[in-house]
Order: sequence, then structure tokens, then C-alpha cells
Amino acid sequence: MNAVRVRSSNGEVLKNDGRFIKEETDLVYDITADANFYNEVPSAELSLDEFEEAALARLKVLRKIEELKVRNITGDSFHTMLMETLKANLLVADTTNKKKEEQSKKLDVNSHFILRAAYCHSEDLRRWFKAQETFLFKYRFENLMKDPSRTRLRQFFRESNIDLDRVSASEKERLRPMLLSCSDITPTLFPTTPYFAVPFTQALDLVAKRQCYVEAGLAYVPLPKIVSIVTNKFTTALSKSLTNAGYAFSKVTNENGRINPLLKSMHSQYADKNRYTTGEGMSDGQELTSQNVDTYAAQSMPLCMSQLHSGLQQDHKLKHWGRLQYGLFLKGAGMTMEESLMFFQREFGKIITAEQFNKNYSYNIRHMYGKEGKRASYTPYNCTKIILGNPPQSGDHHGCPYRHYDDTHLSSLLTKMNIGTPADRDAIMSHKKAQNPQLACVRHFEAVHPAATSVKGVTLDNVGNHPNAWFAGSVSYHAAKSDNVKPDPDAAFLRPVLESKSV
Ligand code: SF4
Repeated sequence: MNAVRVRSSNGEVLKNDGRFIKEETDLVYDITADANFYNEVPSAELSLDEFEEAALARLKVLRKIEELKVRNITGDSFHTMLMETLKANLLVADTTNKKKEEQSKKLDVNSHFILRAAYCHSEDLRRWFKAQETFLFKYRFENLMKDPSRTRLRQFFRESNIDLDRVSASEKERLRPMLLSCSDITPTLFPTTPYFAVPFTQALDLVAKRQCYVEAGLAYVPLPKIVSIVTNKFTTALSKSLTNAGYAFSKVTNENGRINPLLKSMHSQYADKNRYTTGEGMSDGQELTSQNVDTYAAQSMPLCMSQLHSGLQQDHKLKHWGRLQYGLFLKGAGMTMEESLMFFQREFGKIITAEQFNKNYSYNIRHMYGKEGKRASYTPYNCTKIILGNPPQSGDHHGCPYRHYDDTHLSSLLTKMNIGTPADRDAIMSHKKAQNPQLACVRHFEAVHPAATSVKGVTLDNVGNHPNAWFAGSVSYHAAKSDNVKPDPDAAFLRPVLESKSV
């Protein structure tokens, strides 16, 4: 008699012990679990268009990860949003599952290596790329671990040349009391849980949290805790290859003139330009002008922009990058070109004549608004561009204070500006010290806009990703909190303070 196979709705097969498990031949491709160490450099031939499309697809995924982290989105919402982004960008639509898997894997590998090449040539770019890729890897590996048959996990270990030393049954039995005492594996799960022995130096975070047993220099780690060890291996390997790629970058790009500009400008080229609309946050009849900009700077500008504003008021001039960063921000915040010209002329006019201003600076402002030169419509810089852009030198006021100021000066600036409570400032500083400038900036926003998420009509999308989103969120918060939508001109306690020793 033929055996009857009982299957669950997602194709798993019922085993004698009552468990549903996936059979190797029935595995359905899962883009969210496609963890890869990227050990093999691909040798595919791509057209320039395919090259760009692959890079853009992965950048969208990495930027989404950055955005979700900055917005502190976790749990199911995080999983759903990231899964949708992965499916929309790195899953090749095809009729057959097999083809879809092959092509999606290729796209995943190609796009990873293209961005690896684009992000290897500076320390900041490497750090950004490594942070997002590590997060993506960990997310996928955790999903991979959820496969009850462990078939894909075994395949992943095989393909990645990861050789974890599995503890034999007799050794595991000998260590049973110690293994059970330092992990959350229950006695019921113990017999079916594989354990691995790794040098304890590879499991330092587990050792620190007493989540594994250590004996004779080996850490005994249960399978569910393998994530951090494998993720550390991934980060170390990626770090090393990015550094090596960095050494070869100029040689390779100089030999290939066509991809050189593409790789060099990738991070800024593909900055998401649709993260806010000009003048967002302003109510009807509300606008940013040369007359009210001081008040808005005090009340609603993120630290990078309030520092530029204070720098301009102090020096009556801004250097090239500062004029660009601040001028484009004001444009994005809804200031018209005429008002912008008036505003900058008012400040610059304190140390130069109107003729000098017209000759040396008004062209640049008109250019920003697309009225001169190529007549291109320039968009304001997002946080990534500011953070990874030209660092400020002495006398400059541009950049991101959470990235470019040293700890002492930033801390004293936050205190002088009276940002939040001492606990808020400590939290901001701890993000800054952990090199998470955007999280520090979000924490700053939360400290000065209490309970913003529960205020009706306030949009906080992209706060921490774009200075204009911070501004828009703040303006809409104050408008929603007050019957009078105009900011309080007497809000002296909110006046920005300039901390000029910034680098
Ligand atoms: Fe400005 Fe962005 Fe830095 Fe915040 S994180 S200070 S908005 S550049």
C-alpha cells in the first residue's frame, strides 16, 4: 500500500514524530533567508544599464534598513517592511520558481559586489556599507535558522565554507548539566539541539552574557545562538575584503573610465530624492522668509542647520560647502529664491558691499534654484550625504554635528542649548559615541518634541534621514500643539548656540 504523505498548507511534510518539516526537494526559495558570505566574486558580464540597475536595487534595500533602524522599527513591522523591500528590489519575477531563485541569487551577488566596489574607497563609506550589509546578513541568517528541516542551513554552511565543530553526542551528554545551566535550551529540547564547539574568542558576546559554556578555551554554543558567531564572521570577512578592495580601487577605476564616475558618485547619485516635498510641514499661509528664518532656526531646525544659521550670524559669511548645505536646505524648507537672496545679502552685507555680494554670491544662490548655468533643479542634501560628505575644516560650519563634532564640544553644545533633560543628553551622546549619528539626531528630536508620535497631524517619516524631514516634523508638531501656528518669537531658551570648535 502506498504511504499517505500529510502536508501542511506551505508544503511541509508530517513526520512520524508529529513534526512538519520541509523536504529538500520541496524547498521554496525565500529571498529573506538567502544569507550569503559572498566568498565567490562573480564573473558575469553586465551592460552599463544592468550594472546601474543592480546597484540601485540593492541601495534601496540598504537604505530601507538604515531608515528602519533610525525610526527604531522592530518586530513584525520591521520584518514586513524589509521583506516587502527585498521582494520589490532583489526578487526577479519569473514564472518558474527555479529560474526565479537562480536569477534572484545572481542579482543579489552582483549587486553586493557592485556596491562593495563603490563603497570601498573611504572609511565612512566602508563603515556605512558594512553596517547595513551586516544587518541584512543577520536578518537573513535568522530567517534561515527558522527552517525546521535545517536543509538550507546545512547548504549555507557548505557553500560558505563555515566549518563549525559539532559536539558529539557523548561529549554533549558529559557536559549536559553545564550546557543546560547557561542557555535557555530546555531539557526537552536538549536532545534535539545541536551544539558546536568554537574558540571562545569567536563567541565573546555570548561569553560576556554567560549564554554559553566555556571549557579548555572552547565555547559550547547551541544552534540557536550561532547567529552572533556567524554574523561576526561575516562582518570580519566583509571588513577585510572592503579594505583590500580599497587599496585596489584607484587602479581598477583608472583603468576603466566608464565605471569610474559611476562608482565614485554612487552614494550621492542614488540618494532618494523623494523623501520630502518642498515646504513640507508648513500650513497654508505659512512660509519661510528672510524675516522669520531666525525664529524657525531656533525652534525647528536640526542641529546641523541651526549650527550653520548661528555660524552665518556670527561670521556674516559661510564657506562654499556651508552655503550649499544651508542654501539648499532653506530652498527645500520652502524659502523662495528672492527671500534667500535677501536673507544671505542681509547677513553677508554686514561685512561686504551689495556689489561684492552680487558679484560673488548671488549667482550661486540663483544657480541653486536652477536659474543659472545648467538650470538643474538641485535638491537638498540628505543626512547620509552630509555625514559622508566633505568633513568640515577649521572655520567651516557645514557637516553633521553628530558625526563631525568631538564628544566634548558636542556635549557642551547640547547643555548650552538646553536640549532635553540630562538623561536625554546622555542618551544622545551615547548614540554619538557609538557612531550612530542619525540615531543621536532622532533622540534629539524626541527630546525637544515630547510624545511627537502621538500628536495628530505630525509626520515623522525620515526624521534622522533628512534634515528637511526633521524641520517638517518639527514645524507640524508646533503647529499641531498650538492654536497659533506661527512659532513663538520669544522662545529664547530655544535659541541656537554656536559651537565653533567643531572638528
Ligand atoms: Fe543634520 Fe542629519 Fe546630522 Fe541630524 S543626522 S544633524 S539632520 S545631518
